[in-house]
Amino acid sequence: MKACLLRTPGRIEENPLEFTDYPEPEPGHGELLVRVQVCGVCRTDLHVIEGELPPKKSAVIPGHQVVGIVEKTGEDCHRIAKGARVGIAWLHKTDGTCGYCRRGEENLCDAPLFTGYSVDGGYAEWIVAPESFVYPLPQGFPDEQAAPLLCAGIIGYRCLRMAQLERGAKLGFYGFGAAAHVAIQVAKYWGVEVFASTRDARHQRLAMELGAKWVGGTLDAPPEKLDAAIVFAPAGDIVPAALKALRKGGRLILGGIHMSDIPSFPYDLLYQERMIRSVANNTRRDGEEFLALAAQIPVRTHVQVFALREANRALNALKNDAIAGAAVLRMGS
Ligand SMILES: [Zn+2]
Ligand SMILES: [Zn+2]
Repeated sequence: MKACLLRTPGRIEENPLEFTDYPEPEPGHGELLVRVQVCGVCRTDLHVIEGELPPKKSAVIPGHQVVGIVEKTGEDCHRIAKGARVGIAWLHKTDGTCGYCRRGEENLCDAPLFTGYSVDGGYAEWIVAPESFVYPLPQGFPDEQAAPLLCAGIIGYRCLRMAQLERGAKLGFYGFGAAAHVAIQVAKYWGVEVFASTRDARHQRLAMELGAKWVGGTLDAPPEKLDAAIVFAPAGDIVPAALKALRKGGRLILGGIHMSDIPSFPYDLLYQERMIRSVANNTRRDGEEFLALAAQIPVRTHVQVFALREANRALNALKNDAIAGAAVLRMGS
């Protein structure tokens, strides 16, 4: 099969992904073999490729927003049939036995495996995944549109849940990439007002189009105090600015898997019961709830489609804020 392989992490400007032939995977016990149609490009892929996340497998095929068709079912698969359209996301598998898994916090599992990081992902024509971690996809989304829902969408949804928003709440977004462009649609559906802070003019325009009440630069103060804010951009210097924008008791949610260091700041910014919370991965329940909600709203994603062989180019564009919405790789082109 054709795949984009990462042998050694390196700066994306040096095009570290190799477009190459690679052996097709075989489904093991409880696993599905899926023919990949499209795979979304996520900022986490960039963190894996550039080595900001320590390597777990070498070489590895990145990609964890897979939309594909089940081609073959391994032994003991009973839930999803051959021919079904499915999504594969970041959480490849958990141990199911640690204290976190037993408490229903499988996103915090002590021994997790991640798609496109600890196991091969979706920048390839074929992928295998445990049936129990694969999502049947609702109708109504073309493949390209569905891919960004699988990480950007699900993680954004978990961030929104952590923000504990009521109808009429004021919510800030810091960074307006793939996750925020989906999350704003959910927030608006819930009757929440969105204030978007982002440095790139294209991202600012998209935020306006999608109904943000206010749009400004990353460190500009929003015109009203916020009940909650979500930081999607991986820049720690946003944290003090976002805290400053919160009302007393407001919540600051950090949505990224990696962030540059947070500068020190006066305790006053946090005092008055403001809270900071990171979001790590997601549970399958988050995924199921979000996909159903996305179909109901319905969420519309803005995507820019690249061929699989253009993965390096797509990731360079992502790094340079040159994608409005989400980048998606299409196989067979
Ligand atoms: Zn566990
Ligand atoms: Zn992701």
